Amino acid sequence: MLGNLKGKVAIITGSASGIGKRMAEKFAMHGANVVIADLNLDNAQAVANDIQNAYKVETMAITMDVTNEAEVNAGVEAVVTKFGKIDCLISNAGIQIISPIVDFEYEKWKKLFEIHVHGAFLTTKACMKKMIEKKNGGRIIVTGSVHSFEASKDKAAYVTAKHGLLGFVRAIAKEGAPYNISSNLIGPGFVKTPLVEKQIPEQAKSLGISEEEVIKHVMLGETVDGEFTTTDDVADVAVFLAGFESNALTGQSLIVSHGWHIQ
Ligand code: NAD
Repeated sequence: MLGNLKGKVAIITGSASGIGKRMAEKFAMHGANVVIADLNLDNAQAVANDIQNAYKVETMAITMDVTNEAEVNAGVEAVVTKFGKIDCLISNAGIQIISPIVDFEYEKWKKLFEIHVHGAFLTTKACMKKMIEKKNGGRIIVTGSVHSFEASKDKAAYVTAKHGLLGFVRAIAKEGAPYNISSNLIGPGFVKTPLVEKQIPEQAKSLGISEEEVIKHVMLGETVDGEFTTTDDVADVAVFLAGFESNALTGQSLIVSHGWHIQ
């Protein structure tokens, strides 16, 4: 049955906020036990408690900076100790840094890559090992972006990193197949989360236009309906992919962008 995640264990990185948080809630609504992995334990614990109370599933909060290998490995180990397995990883933690290429500080460029690309690698490596060990198969979902397929001004690091994740997901599909581990990338359009709220004034300044124009023309201009993608839109797709029974969709990407990017 599609969307049946009852009893499954899902680790979602960056799930104390925005898209990841909604994914955790939706997974719990479908019966999954969820692990809220984020930088700040108090924030993660608060989300985990709310979900446990609302949906009567088991939850766990862990401090996990996805760029810290020891912390990633320790977090994954703690999840296996508590739940005995990992069925699904959603590599979702991310940031945005806006700058023209010629002004992009190298340190900031590396920081963005570390979180998106190296973070996806470290968390996948740790979870995949456990999935293989337990012989239970698994689902690895990576939050990419429309920017895994398109470019925008002043977002070179993000565009490059998100394109890189597309390759990573395809590589996981090939290496995971013998172990019944599938992989997918979800590519959201603009979703009104803290990550995007922060960008609106920044983009207005760097492009020399009003905040309203940023929303209307830069963020939503290419959509078919002028609407933001919602956290629900993205979380529902994650539930669909995690609950898909066979490996027929492995390696594929699903773009959730109100028609901004149509494949
Ligand atoms: P958000 O800022 O609301 O949430 C991001 C979360 O990631 C935060 O809780 C933050 O603490 C966490 N995080 C940051 N660095 C981390 C690290 N090193 N280790 C662990 N956690 C870390 O942002 P969001 O919009 O929900 O973004 C989630 C994902 O969705 C990101 O990968 C982002 O690139 C992607 N995305 C967002 C949009 C959008 O429009 N909001 C569009 C496409 C893709």
